[in-house]
Amino acid sequence: MDNAHMIALLKDTAKLLELHGANPFQVRHYNNAAIGLERMNREVADLSPEALNSIVELPLSACKFIQEMNTTSTLQRWEELAAITPQGVREMLDLRGIGPKKVRTIWKTLGITNLPELSRACKENKIAQLVGFGEKTQEIIQENITFKIQQAGKFHYASALPYAIDLEERLQQDFPTLLISLAGTIRRKMEVIGRIEILIGIEQTNIIAQWLEQQPVLRHIATLSDPSAWHGQFVENSLPLAVFFCQPKEFYKQLILKTGSEAHLTLPIREGKQLIDFLNSMAEVPSEAAAYRQMSLPYIPPELREGLIELTWAHEKEAPALLTMQDLRGVLHNHTTYSDGKHSLEEMARHCKDLGYEYIGITDHSQLAVYAGGLTPEVIQRQHQEIDHLNKVLAPFRIFKGIESDVLTDGSLDYTDDVLASFDFVIASIHTGMKMNQERVTKRLIRAIRNPYTTMLAHPTNRLLLKREGFPIDYRAVIDACADHGVIIEINANHWRLELDWRWVNYALSKGVWISINPDAHNKESIQNMYYGVCVGRKGRLTPSHTFNALSREEVVAYLQHRKAISTAH
Ligand SMILES: [Zn+2]
Ligand SMILES: [Zn+2]
Repeated sequence: MDNAHMIALLKDTAKLLELHGANPFQVRHYNNAAIGLERMNREVADLSPEALNSIVELPLSACKFIQEMNTTSTLQRWEELAAITPQGVREMLDLRGIGPKKVRTIWKTLGITNLPELSRACKENKIAQLVGFGEKTQEIIQENITFKIQQAGKFHYASALPYAIDLEERLQQDFPTLLISLAGTIRRKMEVIGRIEILIGIEQTNIIAQWLEQQPVLRHIATLSDPSAWHGQFVENSLPLAVFFCQPKEFYKQLILKTGSEAHLTLPIREGKQLIDFLNSMAEVPSEAAAYRQMSLPYIPPELREGLIELTWAHEKEAPALLTMQDLRGVLHNHTTYSDGKHSLEEMARHCKDLGYEYIGITDHSQLAVYAGGLTPEVIQRQHQEIDHLNKVLAPFRIFKGIESDVLTDGSLDYTDDVLASFDFVIASIHTGMKMNQERVTKRLIRAIRNPYTTMLAHPTNRLLLKREGFPIDYRAVIDACADHGVIIEINANHWRLELDWRWVNYALSKGVWISINPDAHNKESIQNMYYGVCVGRKGRLTPSHTFNALSREEVVAYLQHRKAISTAH
């Protein structure tokens, strides 16, 4: 059992205890153990009881729980509680906006044991009547249930992609002469997808169908399949799969049809005709590029085929090349063991250097984020000394002193000006107060953007894809403020976040705002997540010339120095 699983089990036990009205001290034991374990930067599964007991960060009760999980792969207490809790009630515990105590009230007072019943009770105004609930809570519960139902059966791009690539590669390996390609949303690099789609140009489709049926990783769904398409899902995670067949000579036309969104396919091209009309009237084409050429368009990268900005992009002088991983020269927004990261400052820096980057920005959490080990001014001083030392050792590689400063509810940053002035750059980041309405949260963000010390705005809505809706911000107002105050906006490349949302990247670019592709890495491995940020950027037609971390080390030094001169002159 790895640490992540242990933490999840401990937190779940705490929730279940609270649900069943246990003594708060008991609940706290489990929560504290989870917090202690989150701070650990090494796996504990392989540690002896003696070694565990000697770890000062871990409370004694945590050691006991870890030993239990190490020997039994579960917790006795969790097993007992899970056995007496209906599955639907456990799903209610996952709803945002209500804690275990409220779920208990709903369960015990109204006898509700699943989400559909709960949804009905909201519509009948029964939840608002409960003591301590009210209309607002009822509204939040209803919204969360709707969100949960909408997101059911969807997958993060990052979690689906490896399955898609693996299957496509194996098909191509076994059928080297066939034309095979990913299609649909996965080819368009959508942040969330419903299924993997593959197009194959082949006459005898039964050969492929048989091959697919022999794959142990796949489950065939015969009722959905026909000679033109094989439908199934991946056994491991029920991720749906659709494999479409077409005549080989039709392949590239079909690929455009199967890749583009409806909005792309119905784009007006000329003479009152849509893109799809042109495609349908085309004879055989040797490539997608040739098909677009026949419509007097450059090759449109799949990720742009959303029917939004691709024509503007195409009509720009020599449709500018979109950002690639190779364009990125540094990695900003990273956490270390100083706050809630898993690897030390030196490990993170050396790893970036080894990957060929010219610089790293270290941005641990600020003091308000107690849950994430936020940095006090004393610790910041210590970190800066370490950075100064490492900058000598690792030169010319450069570590920039940054911070991910929480934006407080009134929009101020989490330190005094003299502390803020000690950083090379400041990322303003909103993590708390998720219930704020659009007007208030937009004001809060804009105040943070106006702060002369703010260099960059992190994940603007704090959404977690498939889990939590973000703040309802006024995008235009927030982006305009960034433009007015020279604040860079990040595309957070963590697959849960992936924002600034690609739908707004183009607007930010039109306002001249710099975009930075940030991994928000909490360990060395997740630096490679920058790839998913690049995908988001490309969907918003981001080019290297508007990407902040495509700048060289010297350019970034100059930019930050200039920026700081302005802020300290205030
Ligand atoms: Zn953050
Ligand atoms: Zn972060």
